[in-house]
Amino acid sequence: MTEIDEAPGLAPELRAAASPFQGELIFPGDPGYDAARKVWNGVVNKRPAVIARCTDNSDIVTMLRLARQNGLPVAVRGGAHSFAGHSTCDDGMVIDLSPMKRISVDPQRRVAVVEPGLTWGELTQATQEHGLVAVGGHVSVVGVPGLTLGGGVGWLARMQGLACDNLIEVELVTADGSVVRASAEENPELFWGVRGGGGNFGIATRFTLRLHAVGTLFAGMVMHPAERAQEVLRFYRDFSAAAPDAVNVLAGFGTAPPADFVPPDLRGRPAVFIAACHLGSVEDGEKALAAVREFGSPPVDLFGPMPYGQLQHMFDEMSAASTPFHVKAALLGPLDDAALDTLVEQTATMPTPASSVLVLPLGGAVSEVPPDATAFWHRGARYNLEICAVWDSPDDDAGPYREWAQACWQAMRPWSVGVEVNHLGDEGPERVREAYGDRTYGRLAALKRRYDPENVFRLNQNIRPAG
Ligand SMILES: Cc1cc2nc3c(=O)[nH]c(=O)nc-3n(C[C@H](O)[C@H](O)[C@H](O)COP(=O)(O)OP(=O)(O)OC[C@H]3O[C@@H](n4cnc5c(N)ncnc54)[C@H](O)[C@@H]3O)c2cc1C
Repeated sequence: MTEIDEAPGLAPELRAAASPFQGELIFPGDPGYDAARKVWNGVVNKRPAVIARCTDNSDIVTMLRLARQNGLPVAVRGGAHSFAGHSTCDDGMVIDLSPMKRISVDPQRRVAVVEPGLTWGELTQATQEHGLVAVGGHVSVVGVPGLTLGGGVGWLARMQGLACDNLIEVELVTADGSVVRASAEENPELFWGVRGGGGNFGIATRFTLRLHAVGTLFAGMVMHPAERAQEVLRFYRDFSAAAPDAVNVLAGFGTAPPADFVPPDLRGRPAVFIAACHLGSVEDGEKALAAVREFGSPPVDLFGPMPYGQLQHMFDEMSAASTPFHVKAALLGPLDDAALDTLVEQTATMPTPASSVLVLPLGGAVSEVPPDATAFWHRGARYNLEICAVWDSPDDDAGPYREWAQACWQAMRPWSVGVEVNHLGDEGPERVREAYGDRTYGRLAALKRRYDPENVFRLNQNIRPAG
């Protein structure tokens, strides 16, 4: 590993050449370097040669040029929540977009034009005052850019589609430093590719997103002891399969927190939960979700009326930054009894209280988009399975945690119909292909050859340029 300290020429040279750079350059040895190089996943411990905090397109163009001139690998960082740690690198340049947080909301047209440094929570805060929200994921802390470019499955998916389905236009700085726009009218093939193809084609610097009128909705969660998992999951399967698109309902395995709302005999014990929201009036939501609250008389019931912004925070505690984390994911088809029994069996050996297994719904508006209309190909999947091994310290041996996640994933393989890129770890080219299928991958590879023939943007779920 080469550090700037060991190659003292680079820092002064980059600083001088970067003029008139408006952002901030952070080198090894600078105060704040260790904080600046951290990403969400605590097992990722990389030492970039420089972190370039950019403020606009011109900063990004300057930094891309310097990275290429100096032969530095380029990592692009939005919200830094990549499971694989793709938004940082050893001995290269991190183009950090976190200072770029401008938002403009047009309540009449119901669109927001947003920069890539924003998290979904920050965006919701700005749109909610107009009674509008953008379609993001399930938590507030993830970045807008990575989630949107990879697809983006969230609370509103069954009514409003994926985050990328709500992208109207995107502006990108491409590998050669050009600024291009992509929309249904302008560069439509690029627009097809950025909706699911991740950061392969350039650095997205401005997103025009469709907004939806969402006021107070009925949402929450019930929790049962894990001994009841088999019957709770069967209820979940039947309820979710019959639910209208306005209902988004997920199931999860975890550990009951030591919180006041949990009865003392359940605190710290394995638990199974069902969380749901209903998009519509509070009264209709109460009716639509009544069965979830009645089934099995759950000892924890956190359902109630809440603004969308509050729902977006419900799982933030499970998403704490800097925790060592390993994910294995699969998109699933319909769940038969054997699938549910396998899940119950596998989750009985969950390695730590912070680990979890989630079954999140797709369908509805997600499945109404034709598979070749965007690069998010797996439109027919019914659920997204996320197996999350979480442990205490990056110094611990990760082996047993990874092995548990792998075994659970392998056991569920018979029901897998694919995977989507936002939930891939660092799993190699075959898994990226699996995320797209051969046809979509081939089309993406041709697009990659056009916009990034030298694969400058390769620290991602990488599409290799077609030969
Ligand atoms: C706690 C947690 C909760 C999650 N919940 C959900 C969820 O509910 N739904 C869902 O679909 N996914 C979810 N994810 C997965 C998430 O969508 C991906 O990890 C996503 O890539 C993160 O985006 P980011 O901008 O925060 O990450 P980053 O790590 O900054 O970036 C991720 C990838 O996108 C690239 N990238 C980032 N910004 C840009 C840009 N402006 N231009 C080009 N490329 C860029 C990066 O280079 C990297 O390859 C979750 C992840 C975590 C860790």
